[in-house]
Amino acid sequence: MSTGSDSSSSTIYDLIGVGFGPSNLALSGALIEKWTTPSNDSEKSFRTVLFLERQPSFQWHPGMLLPGAQMQISFLKDLATLRSPQSALTFVNYLHSHGRLTAFINRGSFTPSRREFADYLGWAARYVEEHGVNVNYGQEVVAIDESSDGLIIVTSRSITDGRLNIHITRNLVLSPGGSARIPNVVLPLMNESSIVDRSTLLHSSEYKNRVAKLLKSITSSTAPRPLRVAVIGGGQSAAEVTMNLRNLLSNIPSGNAGHQVDMLIRKGSLKPSDDSHFSNEIFAPEGTGNWFSTSEQGREYLMAEYKDTNYSVVNPCTLAALHEIIYDQKVEETITARNSGVQKTPGPKINIRSHIHIASLKYDVGSQTFTFTLRNALTREIFEHETYDAIVCATGYQRHSWIEMLSDRLKKRFGIGSCGSDVPIRLVPFAQRATYMVETRDDSSNVCNTPDSIATTPSISSSTENVSQQEVEPVNLYITRRYRLLPIASSKIESEETLKARIYIQGLEEATHGLSDTLLSVVSCRAGEVVDDLLSED
Ligand SMILES: Cc1cc2nc3c(=O)[nH]c(=O)nc-3n(C[C@H](O)[C@H](O)[C@H](O)COP(=O)(O)OP(=O)(O)OC[C@H]3O[C@@H](n4cnc5c(N)ncnc54)[C@H](O)[C@@H]3O)c2cc1C
Repeated sequence: MSTGSDSSSSTIYDLIGVGFGPSNLALSGALIEKWTTPSNDSEKSFRTVLFLERQPSFQWHPGMLLPGAQMQISFLKDLATLRSPQSALTFVNYLHSHGRLTAFINRGSFTPSRREFADYLGWAARYVEEHGVNVNYGQEVVAIDESSDGLIIVTSRSITDGRLNIHITRNLVLSPGGSARIPNVVLPLMNESSIVDRSTLLHSSEYKNRVAKLLKSITSSTAPRPLRVAVIGGGQSAAEVTMNLRNLLSNIPSGNAGHQVDMLIRKGSLKPSDDSHFSNEIFAPEGTGNWFSTSEQGREYLMAEYKDTNYSVVNPCTLAALHEIIYDQKVEETITARNSGVQKTPGPKINIRSHIHIASLKYDVGSQTFTFTLRNALTREIFEHETYDAIVCATGYQRHSWIEMLSDRLKKRFGIGSCGSDVPIRLVPFAQRATYMVETRDDSSNVCNTPDSIATTPSISSSTENVSQQEVEPVNLYITRRYRLLPIASSKIESEETLKARIYIQGLEEATHGLSDTLLSVVSCRAGEVVDDLLSED
């Protein structure tokens, strides 16, 4: 695993945080408040904290920091205001210390640009580091295990030289955010980097960092020609990427026909996100407790009811901008057709291809192009084969890869045995543990039914038709209202040393704590709750 020699420090940390995005940044702000005005000895002595962050410096979703992108949330839902409006880490304090408070007020809007908010977060990161919080950037956490005395061993790998570093901690907070979700039909090609030109196959999370290389790859042939790029997905990122690609392609000669950016979407049309007054109440901090105490069926109902506040939807302003572009295209087409004698190269064209189900995808090594077989999502009939020079998957994020970091021994502690990534983990509110044990399984068994029929995929083409999906019974993982994972009491591990360390998760528990969880909505309040629990005796 390592390319250099490994190192370990003798420090035993009070807390290690995995990832240093808004969740752990807010947590460090809440800790600093405790240090500034400690009310007991444990608050005074809980001092040695370390955050391990994979990126080389503080950055907030750099791959989607596109020009003109706006926040989807009020600036008041920053790292601190809802919990502690007097905190030094508020967005208002950031504005004030940069001399922009009045100018911001004059904007007359609650939503900053994404660029400004990212700058605010970077400013906050510098603040907490200046106030005693250690952050090791460029360290990717690769393994989490248990020591013989019941503490946690965290192994991180340097992104620059590959060296492994070992850290020991009494408490762990996992806040790694989401990782790219790639559609099954695309995944095999993503993994074939020796054959597929990976610079032409991206996920939106890496878009801004890699789009220049993508364009360079597809324009490397000698004569200008019309290029075709497919964007898979119908959410906010898909809309933003589509418009950005159109802008970038408009600077590239295309011969006589225009470039084309196709959005491939499952629905009949792009849908607006619901951020209306009453729907927004679901994101209030008080909503977390209600969600947590609701039955599993109730939570599923709430998720379905409020899904369009966040998933597979586009902000109404972005929708309006995109519609305007497509309308202008129609105007231009009419004018060009009327003046057909005039030699004119049309600009790049956006097409929204609706009710699309991607049946399969092939890569042609010779022409370095991708060919989709498309089904009509309504009739299920195959209706087209479409070839593209590049693909951007704006297909969202998954939030379970953190489980892979845990050693088998730790997984056993939490009742999830040695489950592979193909076995779903069901987070369950601790209050409902007794019900689940009776209704679903004896969770002390630690059994994982790992199916071996899943994920058999051809190497260079793939299809949704030939992957046999077997229903797999999820394994329960219990979590408290204050975000602590609960070890199970099992006879198999009773004879061993008890696990003294506490493990918390943030931003990964939407199922138990509600739709706010993956967003910024409750980041400040959640940080306070986790810190209170960390400093509590029980
Ligand atoms: C483009 C985009 C725009 C968004 N806009 C909004 C918005 O306007 N409003 C809103 O409420 N929400 C928005 N969100 C949701 C977003 O998830 C939250 O804003 C917020 O980033 C969540 O913070 P986090 O710290 O939990 O996760 P992240 O911000 O994802 O941070 C996790 C950090 O952990 C690091 N990490 C991951 N794995 C490891 C590892 N193994 N070792 C070390 N470090 C690791 C990552 O590098 C990252 O820095 C947006 C999301 C995206 C993708």
